[in-house]
Amino acid sequence: MSTNAEILCVGTEILLGNITNTNATYLSQELSALGFNVYHHTVVGDNPARLAEAVEQALSRSDLVITTGGLGPTYDDLTKQTVANALGLEMELHQDILDDLRARWERRGQIMPENNAQQAWFPKGCRIIPNDWGTAPSCAIEKDGRTVVMLPGPPREMKGIWSTYVAPWLAERQDCVFVSRYCRVINIGESALENRLRTLLETSTNPTIAPYAGNGECMLRVTARAATREEAFALTEPVVELIRKECGDDLYTVDKDSMQQVVVELLKELGLTVATCESLTGGLVAGRITDIPGSSDVFECGFVTYSDRIKHSQVGVPEETLRQHTAVSLETAAAMAEGTLARSGASLALSTTGVAGPDDLPHAEVGTVYSAVAGPLGTRAVKLPMIHSRDRAYNRTMAASKALDLLRRYLLEMKQQQG
Ligand code: ATP
Ligand code: MG
Repeated sequence: MSTNAEILCVGTEILLGNITNTNATYLSQELSALGFNVYHHTVVGDNPARLAEAVEQALSRSDLVITTGGLGPTYDDLTKQTVANALGLEMELHQDILDDLRARWERRGQIMPENNAQQAWFPKGCRIIPNDWGTAPSCAIEKDGRTVVMLPGPPREMKGIWSTYVAPWLAERQDCVFVSRYCRVINIGESALENRLRTLLETSTNPTIAPYAGNGECMLRVTARAATREEAFALTEPVVELIRKECGDDLYTVDKDSMQQVVVELLKELGLTVATCESLTGGLVAGRITDIPGSSDVFECGFVTYSDRIKHSQVGVPEETLRQHTAVSLETAAAMAEGTLARSGASLALSTTGVAGPDDLPHAEVGTVYSAVAGPLGTRAVKLPMIHSRDRAYNRTMAASKALDLLRRYLLEMKQQQG
């Protein structure tokens, strides 16, 4: 059975931009993993007429509607009542829930304000879903082939109820699952990648392939649908292989989360450690490596050598090199890596130096970046292939990614030589 699902988030604070709609993101991922087609996200404020309209629209086009928010005790918590109206159901009091709510207040030495009693009223015939994380229970209604699940707004409560009660219940009703694989690519631009994979992107229906771009990297999500996880995974394999073939070494991982994770795992596998020496990235490379749990096994230290004086005094870049070639040069990048290797005692050292911008330097254009790796295979220094941008944050992020990629390629070469 293929079920069309829709997420309806209730809350004026989402519309005002005061909070980010993380509930929709979470539920979309969860629903997709359970094999539901999520075709709509709707956000509506705490306004009775507009909420009623949104509920009716959702029920007219989707088999499964998940709402979040508006289950609380205040006057603007209208979700249950509105859904009941739309489905032509009356509300009924659940005395046991009301007693339980009163008891909770009494345990705190307080008397429950009467408006809290609305949390014990539910559409007639609904299934009550316990809320072990807060006060308001949730509920689900099935009527005329439609299912509406109403969850509270606070993400912690919503996730707890979803994963403990709702997801297992919905999974039982599904006869298919989705598996998504994530192919992460560096050094190939989004449009170039789309051109190279055009036929595949246009013709593949199961799996489907969706390209995403962000922060100068591209990701291809390959999603297959089948009766079991194993079958769905098997369907993704030939497509992932084709992408691998097309992208070569520029495909830096399938299924891992990030470049830094790949680098840390390679270092572990080879039993090596690294130290960093950064100028324009100001510690971003070290930060990304140490984001990875267990990086202490492979990371020795990071120098941030911003001024020429410190490049010389801390990692021994010769004054002559700085004078003759400037700090933004292949020679300085190489000397930074070599000096760091010698001083840290790590197996490898990685350096970055360049112009983050937004303005050019007299002797170097914004976006010019050099990076080097020093280690057992000798020193590899390169001018990084950057898209010239005046965006300082972008340049620094890209420089860190591409420097990590340089290290990854060095490690792959070492692995090949060992193997
Ligand atoms: P409460 O009993 O807390 O009133 P509720 O079910 O009525 O719960 P809301 O009043 O709509 O939920 O939202 C409560 C809080 O939950 C919001 O202030 C916000 O912090 C968070 N929240 C609500 N909706 C979302 C959402 N879609 N994404 C992320 N956070 C949300
Ligand atoms: Mg509320």
